Amino acid sequence: MSLLTLRRRELIAGLAAAPLILSRSVRAQIFADFPFSLGVASGDPAPDGFVIWTRLAPQPMEPHGGMPMAPVPVQWEVSSDSGFKAIVQKGEAIARPELAHSVHVEVEGLLPDRQYWYRFKLGGEISLWGRARTLPAARATVGKTRFAVVGCQHYEAGLYTGYHHLAVDAPDWVFHYGDYIYEYHYDFTLEGGLPVKPVRAYSGREPFSLDDYRVRYAQTKLDPDLQAAHVAAAWFTSYDDHEVQNNWVGDLDQNGTPPEPFLLRRTAAMQAFYEHMPVRKRSFPRNGTVDIVRRAQWGDLLTANFLDTRLYRTEQPCGDGFKPDCPARQDAKAEVIGRAQEKWLFDGLSGSKARWNVLAQQIMMMPMDRRLGDEPAPVFNLDSWNGYPKPRQRLFDRLEDMKLGNVVVLTGDEHQNYAGEIKGRSGKTIAAEFVGTSVSSSGDGQDRRSGYDRMMALNPNIKFNNAQRGYLICDVTPDRWQTQFRVMDQIGTPGAPIKTRATWGLERGRLELAEA
Ligand code: FE
Ligand code: CA
Repeated sequence: MSLLTLRRRELIAGLAAAPLILSRSVRAQIFADFPFSLGVASGDPAPDGFVIWTRLAPQPMEPHGGMPMAPVPVQWEVSSDSGFKAIVQKGEAIARPELAHSVHVEVEGLLPDRQYWYRFKLGGEISLWGRARTLPAARATVGKTRFAVVGCQHYEAGLYTGYHHLAVDAPDWVFHYGDYIYEYHYDFTLEGGLPVKPVRAYSGREPFSLDDYRVRYAQTKLDPDLQAAHVAAAWFTSYDDHEVQNNWVGDLDQNGTPPEPFLLRRTAAMQAFYEHMPVRKRSFPRNGTVDIVRRAQWGDLLTANFLDTRLYRTEQPCGDGFKPDCPARQDAKAEVIGRAQEKWLFDGLSGSKARWNVLAQQIMMMPMDRRLGDEPAPVFNLDSWNGYPKPRQRLFDRLEDMKLGNVVVLTGDEHQNYAGEIKGRSGKTIAAEFVGTSVSSSGDGQDRRSGYDRMMALNPNIKFNNAQRGYLICDVTPDRWQTQFRVMDQIGTPGAPIKTRATWGLERGRLELAEA
């Protein structure tokens, strides 16, 4: 597609005008290759602006992206037209070696609820342009918003065809629930008992150091379909587990590594996450963590609470995994989001006048029995809210007592699509949950996995399940919410078409799911 046609220029002419604080030999080194190879991104939109991001990486798979060990000024422009004839703001940002020559510009002073275009310049080179929409004013009456929910993008498991389709769908904004990179790589998977090679390979071994994680992000971001999805809209990004390691929580990894060495790894992973995501300065790495807990508001229509279900969580009970109930699962001191985040969430919900309140988070919240066969007792995914019934009930009771009637939970992690209802003590529906599948993780998948009938019979609150690859498109109006499950039949070869497998909707005040 045309927005991906990288415009290469021979750079020598542009160099003389470049206001670089670098020697001539260093300049030649920078411009050996296109410095904007990792694309551009925007994120964390507000009524007056958004973050614009890029990272200079002329040799993206090399240490420091092939950049010299010096700060480099980069020019940026924001325009109200795609031709950059009406530039409304411009400036210069310093790409620093401490941050892998990434730049995060917090653009301010823009008009609410408007489409803008942005781009970066360095020497004679110009980046792709990206598109971003500011949020409506906080007190505005808003009639609709359309957004995408996406994540879980193991690079080896499949192509990012879904991201091409997401860009074409042109949502106003995107929620990414995490697993942007995966730390593990595999040589083959078993399909029907036979080994099958992955579609493509991660470079390098499992990441532990900052440089390792940077290369993993760089390889991921070289994908043109992923770049297209970033170009198309501003994203709210979260991390889940694989940005660090499978199923980590707090200061614990899944291998029983002592906390002290694990925290060194987590610190490196968190810095690399910050360097590659279009997040605000409030998320700058501090004390080895990145703060992704935040709130955004679409006028009177919708308020989204972006949660962190990894950093403040207590250890999975009973050794993690899919297991029957066990005493540790009932631990009254267990936490998922932790007391401070919980208070922040409850305060926000009780003060919210929005027509819809969204919990945008990572792991499945609705009660679910995982039995697919003839297991005698219910089985739970202990790495989801199902492993933490005590803090979950505290949340559910609070939602029920607040009588909001407008809570929608958005989730990832499962590599399957689900639509389900969450019931309160009274049996009344207190929230609806949409679980987005993966865009590539777990490979092609299938419409219905074996054991589907058993699972649906055991879980009457679950109304829809599908295990193909894709993303969600949500259309929200003052009284109605509609979610399209967008899926592809395969992601192993380019050009797979997208289709809406199902559309499930609900009415504000009732929250009961119905297929549209
Ligand atoms: Fe995942
Ligand atoms: Ca995950």
